[in-house]
Amino acid sequence: MSSIFDKCTKWNTADEYRKRGEYPYFRPIEGYDGSYVVIDGRRLLMCGSNNYLGLSLDPRVKEAALKAVTDFGTSCSGSRFLNGTLSLHEKLEDRLVDFSGKEAALCFTTGYQVNLGTISSLMGRDEYIISDKFNHASIMDAAFFSQGMDKSIKLKRYKHNNMEDLEKTLMGIPEESPKLIVTDGVFSMEGTVVNLPQVSKLAEKYNAVVYLDEAHAFGVLGENGRGTEEHHGYAAKADLVMGTFSKSFGSIGGFVAGDAKVIDYIKHFARPLIFSASMPPANLAAASEALEIIMNEPERVQRLQQIAEMMIKGFKARGFDVGATETPIVPLITGEFDRTLTFFHRLYDQGFYVNPVFPPAVPPNRCMLRTSYMATMKDAELNDFLDVAQQEGKKLGIVD
Ligand code: PMP
Repeated sequence: MSSIFDKCTKWNTADEYRKRGEYPYFRPIEGYDGSYVVIDGRRLLMCGSNNYLGLSLDPRVKEAALKAVTDFGTSCSGSRFLNGTLSLHEKLEDRLVDFSGKEAALCFTTGYQVNLGTISSLMGRDEYIISDKFNHASIMDAAFFSQGMDKSIKLKRYKHNNMEDLEKTLMGIPEESPKLIVTDGVFSMEGTVVNLPQVSKLAEKYNAVVYLDEAHAFGVLGENGRGTEEHHGYAAKADLVMGTFSKSFGSIGGFVAGDAKVIDYIKHFARPLIFSASMPPANLAAASEALEIIMNEPERVQRLQQIAEMMIKGFKARGFDVGATETPIVPLITGEFDRTLTFFHRLYDQGFYVNPVFPPAVPPNRCMLRTSYMATMKDAELNDFLDVAQQEGKKLGIVD
């Protein structure tokens, strides 16, 4: 008789890589030291963090988290809906309204849950989700979750940032059907920025609503770190924006912001908000403090943008294919699997931490090392990395 667990006992891909000492995942970080992490007792320059502004290690953010634990304890032990809303949640939401320029904001326990909860609560019978093919997995999961609740909900995907394909997709949908266009602001693997003005124009033309995932854009894009809308000079606005606290905000959690009536509806229908415990005090206080720092110290965002420009130029000058990135997410596109894994190990052995990315996170021919940077990094550290990447890239035939 077969068992549900048969697939687990038969699956040994990870074991094979472990036996050869080539397994790249789940490596525990033992400590942080400025731009470095300690793994296996070795210091590695962190060239693959989403802690874009370095705020998870900022003394003010750490202090705020400690104080919240003293005042409120370590957990809310329940859902926002009932016993899990603290004054700290509402204080943070009020400031997020100021930051995002929307009418209302609502915090969830992770950004993943924001996407799952917001999208699934809004979708109804015979309605359409229209999604960029490079959108984050949580958006795909949100579509699957929505379809699990109502099979008549439809998902259409268009080519990455391709406005002709988006228009073609919109034209193929009955005019009277409600439509939600979902797009990342900054695409998490490629570092590309959505053409928001054009998405917005098409949304207006075809009577759709725009949902913008700003996980990698808040604190990163725009002169003041206010994301994709600011980056495009506020030429266009999304109807809903979401953000996460796990990247620029140095915490964990996320939020959605938009019109007050819409946010109030989401608050009462988003299952991942209602049936899961709320953001805990330490993370709320850390995110709140980080938000104040982002709003008061735009020079951090500007330093990050300067680093992004330096790394994009630096890699291009050394012959790397970095795709069409405009942000501190700089992919080194290596194409095939084995070469990508070897490149990862060579850099790791030389003292640099980056993220190897393979399907299904990227299309099969687009394996890459995803590099990303923090505003706190120094030019000398970054130049070192550029030189070592070039030297190892040459040995593997990735660059000439
Ligand atoms: N959206 C995007 C574009 C992301 O990259 C991520 C996380 N990698 C999320 C949403 C989910 O955020 P969180 O880590 O807060 O769950």
